[in-house]
Amino acid sequence: MGPAEVVSRVADVGRHVALRASLTAIGQQQCRRLEDSDWPRRARNLRDQLARVSARERERVISASDRWLQHHATFFSLHDFPLGDPIDWHRDYSSDMVGPIKYSGLINTRVREHVGDIKYTWELNRLQHLVLFALAGAWTQNGDYWKEIEAQLISWKQSNPFMMGVNWKSPLEAAIRLITWAQVALIQGGKGGEWFDRASKTIYQHQYLISKFYSKHSSANNHLIGEMAGLYIASVFWPYYRESTLWRALARRKLVAEIVRQVEADGVGKERATEYQVFVIELFLLAGALGHLIGDPFPQEYWARLTRMLEFLSSISNRSGDLPMFGDGDSGQAVWLPETTPERIQRLTGISRDHETDAVNANLRSTLLLWGQSPQDIPLCSPSQKLEAFPDGGYYVLVADRGGENEMMAVFDTAQLGLPPLNAHGHADALSFWLSYGGEEFLIDPGTFTYYCSAEWRSYFRGTGAHNTVRIDGQDQSVSGGIFLWRETADCRLEQVEGTDDFVEAVGSHDGYRRLADPVIHTRKLQLFKKSRTLVITDRLECEGAHDIELFFHFSETCQVRQVAPGSFEALNRNKRISIRVDSRFKPELYRGCEKPISGWVSRTFGIKEPSFTLVARAKISGSAEFVTEIAAL
Ligand SMILES: [Zn+2]
Repeated sequence: MGPAEVVSRVADVGRHVALRASLTAIGQQQCRRLEDSDWPRRARNLRDQLARVSARERERVISASDRWLQHHATFFSLHDFPLGDPIDWHRDYSSDMVGPIKYSGLINTRVREHVGDIKYTWELNRLQHLVLFALAGAWTQNGDYWKEIEAQLISWKQSNPFMMGVNWKSPLEAAIRLITWAQVALIQGGKGGEWFDRASKTIYQHQYLISKFYSKHSSANNHLIGEMAGLYIASVFWPYYRESTLWRALARRKLVAEIVRQVEADGVGKERATEYQVFVIELFLLAGALGHLIGDPFPQEYWARLTRMLEFLSSISNRSGDLPMFGDGDSGQAVWLPETTPERIQRLTGISRDHETDAVNANLRSTLLLWGQSPQDIPLCSPSQKLEAFPDGGYYVLVADRGGENEMMAVFDTAQLGLPPLNAHGHADALSFWLSYGGEEFLIDPGTFTYYCSAEWRSYFRGTGAHNTVRIDGQDQSVSGGIFLWRETADCRLEQVEGTDDFVEAVGSHDGYRRLADPVIHTRKLQLFKKSRTLVITDRLECEGAHDIELFFHFSETCQVRQVAPGSFEALNRNKRISIRVDSRFKPELYRGCEKPISGWVSRTFGIKEPSFTLVARAKISGSAEFVTEIAAL
């Protein structure tokens, strides 16, 4: 922590002391309503777009909404879970623990014994299901949905006095509530009329919290983007307060700065966490599209960087829309909709694709993210075709027959760990790769599963052993300093790339094991022979002494894996098959859903883990060694 950050943290404490002393005054802040005749027209445009959403998509939203209407919730590991009536907004329904109602600055939300698993409480309090109610209300004309929005808003306000309890702890959570309310207001027909009058104080308090306590210095990652998107959107929707102009300018300035600071020129988010990249793309789109709608256009460089971000997602997705789960993810969505991840990715990447065509787009996600505008309306840049090299981000795509029936894709991770100085959301996954064949995932990154509920599982999913790479002496490549901190980080880089029409080769290396008593440098070469759909992996370990080597291959949970000969395995995923053969010096072992040692797991949704096959090949070396693994489509 540098001197500027120390000063800033001390200032935060001062702000809390001042705020605690003036809670009542801030709670009574008055606003001045202005007439703005453009909003009913914008709301009508949105309604027109919503009317074009397919019957299937509507059905899904309405049925999800009907369960919420009964106070049955589905998120993380909770499935159709009864919340009771009234909903307890301070309860973590997964552990049944209730957070204290005291000044939020005094609550340590990371301690499970105090609050339960805070991610569960916060997720519920994002109130994103209110958007489902608004959509169902708009499509069915059933007034019950609108009544429920109002009832829950009142209940939420009554249970959450300003700055009291866990729901006032995180400015990001406050920002997402603001985005939710703005969406509801626009679907309802403008700014919500009487609904806004009831919510005006709490809307002010949310913005006040963000403006005072937004993420700074080492914490300025995706949280800051979310906070500024929420502040911008709320100050555009409800510009009725003394500070509104200031807040809007601050938020817009930060968003424009952060898209450059947190995203590489090639479109890769510096957190090196695919899911968070998807999340911040949505946040950047919401803010930029709203600016465009109201005549406050964001600069061209903002849209150019956003286009590159979408292009990266599109380039690392297979023909089915699956993409590698590199780094942390918490299943967060800027607008929550009942979709699978591939559907969500295809809809997002479709925004830049449809931008260029005359497609009459009425997919729900883009309609909501663009506030009823169509992709052609917004100033995205024309995306180039799917790319292979992301030199700034450190990813390289080796691909044969892209988009075709027998597409084979390996995404090679030669990226840095995460966004310095904390690298909070990075995983120790240097030189790992993701492999898809024929639109089916074979070798995956197993995901994240948890932040707070178990230190053991947290360190497994972010550790080197949960990635398709080499672990040495049982150590992670980088040294953890806490659940959102890596103290010492491997320096990983792409060394060279070569290719012809039939063949492509990429070489990467990292120095994470230089710290061992006998230092080791790991260099990995991936070669894809396009005609035979064969991937050859050559691992070179340079060292002088003796080491334990483990080579990991994590299969998708839909793969069946069996050993066919010593060192030879076959994996079947639906109707696609691959073989994998490891060097004869290795002793291979298959795991599935094993707890001691933890091995053979995947987590697609935060809070849920499922058994899957993991192949671990172990060997001992003495001095430098080279191993070859061959993977072929069958
Ligand atoms: Zn990972």
